[in-house]
Amino acid sequence: MVVTRFAPSPTGFLHIGGARTALFAWAYARKNAGKFILRIEDTDIERSTQESVDSIIQAMNWLGLTYDEGPYYQTQRMERYKQAIQELLHSGHAYHCYCSKEELDVMRDTQRARGEKPRYDRRCLVNPVKKDGVAPVVRFKTPLSGSVVWQDLVKGRIEVSNDELDDLIIARSDGTPTYNFCVVLDDLDMQVSHVIRGDDHVNNTPRQINILQAFGAKIPSYAHVPMILREDGQKMSKRTDAVSVMQYKDLGILPEALLNYLARLCFGHGNDEVFTVAQFVDWFDLNHISGAPARFDLKKLYWVNGEHIKTKDIHELADIVKDSLIASGVDVAQGPHLVTLLTKIRERSDNLIKLAKECSLFYTVPTINAEDRAKYLTDDAVNILRQFVSGLSMLEWRIEVLQAYIKEFCLNQQIKMPQLGMPLRLKLCATTNAPAVDLIMELLGKDEVIKRINAS
Ligand code: GLU
Ligand code: ZN
Repeated sequence: MVVTRFAPSPTGFLHIGGARTALFAWAYARKNAGKFILRIEDTDIERSTQESVDSIIQAMNWLGLTYDEGPYYQTQRMERYKQAIQELLHSGHAYHCYCSKEELDVMRDTQRARGEKPRYDRRCLVNPVKKDGVAPVVRFKTPLSGSVVWQDLVKGRIEVSNDELDDLIIARSDGTPTYNFCVVLDDLDMQVSHVIRGDDHVNNTPRQINILQAFGAKIPSYAHVPMILREDGQKMSKRTDAVSVMQYKDLGILPEALLNYLARLCFGHGNDEVFTVAQFVDWFDLNHISGAPARFDLKKLYWVNGEHIKTKDIHELADIVKDSLIASGVDVAQGPHLVTLLTKIRERSDNLIKLAKECSLFYTVPTINAEDRAKYLTDDAVNILRQFVSGLSMLEWRIEVLQAYIKEFCLNQQIKMPQLGMPLRLKLCATTNAPAVDLIMELLGKDEVIKRINAS
């Protein structure tokens, strides 16, 4: 049975790198009819907040990354970790260390002076001296020889010699377990078969494998996925880049478009750039993830988003747009049917904000700014519009009829199309950057068009 997990530390919102990792873990479980677990790694009590947990879950819900188990919280598993540490002490895979910080500093300085790499010299294992009044830490006994080898599903074969690994502290002097130990115990207890995570954790893997081996556990498969960098190759930063998943919602991105884009960043399927989540799950395999760091390209994301806007179920799209229109105080009850409207104008927008804004033109009478008024609504233009509106009332309100009327009107008046089109668009939409006038007119309906043209 395939069991994967997403294990965020709740020290902030869900960022896009995390979402990408979660997507891969989720997709792999779904593809293999396995189980996807959400685990909250909240042992860093100072930096973890419930607010972050909530926002991570909110973002996962928005993306549709449903989990089958959890959320588990590491802080609720402390007794289990402590018991497991006792087990390792009994089996001889761990030992108490009474060294003070000062002693360790001297030890490391001496090693450095000798030109050696500083590492714990195991003095407390070789010669255990209890010190009264000193609470010891617990160290894991790394195998003395040999190496840890694993076939990383993204990075290929990795081998780390055990003498490069220090005897890791697994419990602090107050008895609390350390990060790597909790991860190991969780992956063990939750029977995780595939550990899929960011490659910033690749250095933890040999230590975690050694601890798993001390428990006689089966070693899971590992897939370390590359970082997502900025377009210029720099690390993304909270201050200058939109890194939070929910920021993309606010930018008008559809969740399926974000997933598509994130998937495509480190995964390829022929020349396919636009695909559904279901297609991705179908195609996905861990050893097809590219090992090279990915670069985030916002323009490309918008393009992918535009493609999804074009093909999204029109009723679902209408629901989203309706919510955002209502949230900005636009009443969609009066005016064109939103589904009809969207069918005709959705191709113009690569994000939902733009799309909703364009829709709102049909439900609220927009205010024309003074500058545009002066530029486009000249005496001549107003005169043209007066003539134009006078013929509308007797028209049959169909787009073909409107097109013919506009064409004939320009011909009769001996004017070029923009001479009518620009002021007319402005009157109807308060912007000259709007869909074609005939379409706007058809959608607005006769009464509303006449009303808007006649409004001062
Ligand atoms: N909690 C770690 C993080 O947020 C993930 C650890 C793991 O997946 O093993 O980066
Ligand atoms: Zn010691």
